[in-house]
Amino acid sequence: MQRSVLRDVVATIVVSGLAACVVLVAWSAWSLWVTPTGETRTALAFIAEVFSASQRGLAAIVVCCAIAIVGVVGTIRRFRDSLTQFQDTLARMPTMRSKSDATQPRATNYHEAQALARAVDDVQKAFSERESRFERSKLRLRDQLNQRTQEANEAGARAYQLAMVDPLTKLPNRAMLNEALDSAIADALSHRTTACVLFIDVDHFKRLNDTLGHELGDRVLQHVATTLRTNLREIDSAARLGGDEFVVVIRNLPLESAKSIVERYLGNVYTALRNPIDVGDRSTLVTLSIGAALYPSDGNDGPALLRAADAAMYVAKQKGRNRADWYVKERERSAADVSKREQALREAIANRQLVVAYQPQVRADDGIPVGLEALVRWQHPTSGLIMPGEFISLAEKSGLIVPLGQRVLEQAFTHAKRWNARDLNMRISVNLSIRQLEQQGWTESLQLLLEKFDLSPGMIDLEITESVISDDPVAMEKTLRKLSERGFTLSLDDFGTGFSSLNYLARFPFDHVKIDRQFINDIGSEASRNVVQSIIALGHTLKMRTIAEGVETPQQFRILREMGCDEIQGFFVAEAMPADEVLGWWQQRVETTQFLSQQEAMLGVENVHPISAGRSTSAMQP
Ligand code: C2E
Ligand code: CA
Ligand code: CA
Repeated sequence: MQRSVLRDVVATIVVSGLAACVVLVAWSAWSLWVTPTGETRTALAFIAEVFSASQRGLAAIVVCCAIAIVGVVGTIRRFRDSLTQFQDTLARMPTMRSKSDATQPRATNYHEAQALARAVDDVQKAFSERESRFERSKLRLRDQLNQRTQEANEAGARAYQLAMVDPLTKLPNRAMLNEALDSAIADALSHRTTACVLFIDVDHFKRLNDTLGHELGDRVLQHVATTLRTNLREIDSAARLGGDEFVVVIRNLPLESAKSIVERYLGNVYTALRNPIDVGDRSTLVTLSIGAALYPSDGNDGPALLRAADAAMYVAKQKGRNRADWYVKERERSAADVSKREQALREAIANRQLVVAYQPQVRADDGIPVGLEALVRWQHPTSGLIMPGEFISLAEKSGLIVPLGQRVLEQAFTHAKRWNARDLNMRISVNLSIRQLEQQGWTESLQLLLEKFDLSPGMIDLEITESVISDDPVAMEKTLRKLSERGFTLSLDDFGTGFSSLNYLARFPFDHVKIDRQFINDIGSEASRNVVQSIIALGHTLKMRTIAEGVETPQQFRILREMGCDEIQGFFVAEAMPADEVLGWWQQRVETTQFLSQQEAMLGVENVHPISAGRSTSAMQP
């Protein structure tokens, strides 16, 4: 308020000073321009008059200044009065606001009352102006605050999404799963209930991904995620660990009915997945292998429960997939056994306790030996000879099949080199595991080994079982083509036991198809005979040689020969034998077969079966 009075005073001084100057200049100019007689002067006369009047002008300026000073003093006095009045009013304000009407100071006369009212109005106006200004800035601040809060919330939500949620399925990820597990366990503890952890794996997902493409593979994962989630209650969680692995946590389950509730959930999930799902313009069937574990019987904390559920899932896979299994503690003990056996096998490989035996393969029409299948055995220092059925699957699971397979290859190549020197024209077949084929640079290392032993690839036959191929046909085709181009021959082992479609058989560069033992064993039945006949016909159509495995009797041999099967392998011919017996057996076999065919030619009778020689068991002697 005081500042505005000051402003007024200064303005008054300036305005009145200017006004005085204008009046003075106008008046002087007029009086100099016009002569006392009323005529106007010329410009020169006017200038001369201005000059002479300047002395008189000085006096006029002094007069004007005096007028201005009087004006200013008057103005200052007027403002000082109103300032005093205003300050008085201000001083009385609190009293006016707080006290009742009776106690308010009364205006002594009408003017004073009016001045007071005006002053009160001014003050109220000032107050309300300030109040509304304050309100406005408060609102502005609140808006800003809201905006910042919203931005912070959004940023927080984004960070949370990144840290806790799987971007593909929108399910919680591993980090959030751990939280869910901990809180489910805490809940179970405080409510005397139980919690269940399910470990879920999509069957053959890699194959699905390769056949459908990654984009559609992602859709399959999203579909699985939705199926797992929608069948759960709000309080339960479904999380994706990565790849095709999911975990479900079902919490607050009553102790006595926990298993049946979980099984109902599993039933719903399997029912939902019974129908093919549409991905893009194709549809596919998806199956899941699931392992289930309960708190606290199967694990005391999150990691232990996950381990137990994972172990149960592994059992479900082994039992044929597309099923769920509860964790069974006893298996834990057998897991300890497994690791002991694994260690023993590891040592056996290192200590060269693995030896290779050879089972001959002969031509069906004349019995001449053409090949040998290398079959591994474990020469155990205390338990004696252990057959591969007892350790191959352990070797596969533990990855030991890779060094084991390498030992077999080295031994087989050593023997092949020795026998090759005799010019016996032998083909050596070696069984391969998928794990070997999957090794980076494995085909190159095979080539190097071959060169080291100076062998031609044409005499090495690689046996691959059918089930291995159906796991990842695209990658397998590539590897097999590479091997075939390098000159190795390839055999499709155990044909008829797996799920390989005829398409695989036609697509892959196999030279031989081996008819599985079970069909030969059953060849007395019409159904098996038909199957064997079809396989032989199919093999020949595809320009492959057919080899019958597990031929044990002369009858089986005769039937197979009549059907046009090319080669025979089995106890009827010979069991697998140690390497140092092979040469003797082979030479004797060739001699006997030649002798028999000479006799045949001489007597004109057909020898219905080649004579077994070497290590054939007595029961199988013809
Ligand atoms: P496979 O490749 O089907 O080998 C043939 C199996 O049938 C051999 O069993 C052989 O002894 C047996 N066998 C041959 N003739 C007859 C017969 O007339 N009657 C009966 N009942 N059985 C007969 P083995 O030696 O116990 O080998 C079992 C399996 O172990 C093999 O089956 C093969 O899959 C695997 N295997 C053996 N050696 C190796 C190896 O070096 N590497 C890999 N990855 N697997 C191997
Ligand atoms: Ca084989
Ligand atoms: Ca076989």
